[in-house]
Amino acid sequence: MIPFLDLKRINEPYQDAIQAAIERVLQSGWYILGQEVGLFEQLFANYCGVRHCIGVANGLDALTLVLKAWAFAPGSEVIVPSNAYIASVMSVTQAGLTPVFVEPDPLTYLLDQARIEAAIGPNTKAVLPIHLYGRCCNMTAINVIARRYDLMVLEDAAQAHGAEWEGRRAGSLSDAAGWSFYPSKNLGALGDAGAITTNDDALADRLRALRNYGSAVKYRKDVVGHNSRLDELQAAILLAKLPGLDRDNERRRVLAECYLTGIDNPDVSLPPADRIPQDVWHLFVVRHPRRDAFRSYLYERGISTDMHYPVPPHHQQAYRVFRDLSLPISEQLHREVISLPLNPALTDEHVRYIIDAVNAMEG
Ligand SMILES: *Cc1c(COP(=O)(O)O)cnc(C)c1O
Repeated sequence: MIPFLDLKRINEPYQDAIQAAIERVLQSGWYILGQEVGLFEQLFANYCGVRHCIGVANGLDALTLVLKAWAFAPGSEVIVPSNAYIASVMSVTQAGLTPVFVEPDPLTYLLDQARIEAAIGPNTKAVLPIHLYGRCCNMTAINVIARRYDLMVLEDAAQAHGAEWEGRRAGSLSDAAGWSFYPSKNLGALGDAGAITTNDDALADRLRALRNYGSAVKYRKDVVGHNSRLDELQAAILLAKLPGLDRDNERRRVLAECYLTGIDNPDVSLPPADRIPQDVWHLFVVRHPRRDAFRSYLYERGISTDMHYPVPPHHQQAYRVFRDLSLPISEQLHREVISLPLNPALTDEHVRYIIDAVNAMEG
């Protein structure tokens, strides 16, 4: 069986560095907000090309804390893509705000900038583009619209560690970005972890307080905060893995290119291949009109796949208030998308085998 994701194998090249990191933290006797978090924040900010990185507990908190720090009036609206993982929508509602769904471009699966303006109303305060599957949204166009309507822009960069838009990295392309280092991400910890990157000094100060009970200073509480700190152990593990991120992303590109050139089954729609070096291929998502049959067919041939994601946010029970929205592009995408295995631990042989199996399936 070719696993969809084998985290143990993905972490194998880092085993010695991770063990040294764990030992260093154990021996330090300092487990919360110490040197490891400080150093990781500095190096990850440099990596993204921004002034500030603020480590937090996970990706959902990263997005939620930024939206809270902006302190919009309750019920203000935030534009989010209608096809995606639930976390981005949940960050909006957790912050007491209202999501306004905008359909994606069916070819790139990304928030369609041409549809944003029609969704802007008097209460719209921000846009939350997701660099879905490891490909940056058109941030030039999104920022132009945001400036015109005085909106803040928050990138959901949880799938885009190292991805580029016009020579700049994800996380540096807007007012702020939320990151997740969930174990399966391109840069993954051994547990939950997240961060925010920004060039806004005042926002960074507010976030350092918000993540730590409302103050960066012991015994003083300025605002009602959260306990959402990146812990020393995960920061040390991320420091061990950050130097290998570009190499891992390069391996993902090589495998993506194999799929893109090798798959020629007419029923399978491939992701865009116009920016292979800039995209970081967090997932390799194709579409098939009979997705479930295609998935079973691959499974019978020993290939595990996944779906990102089978149910659009507005059809989730948690968001039944949005149930009656008609978002046909998203609904079709969620019915047809299937993710083929793609990660740095996958071998050339695996990929050749998968391509042959995909091409051999008849309509
Ligand atoms: C993983 C992910 C998140 C949330 O990350 P957690 O660390 O699991 O909270 C948010 N947005 C996207 C697009 C993600 O893929």
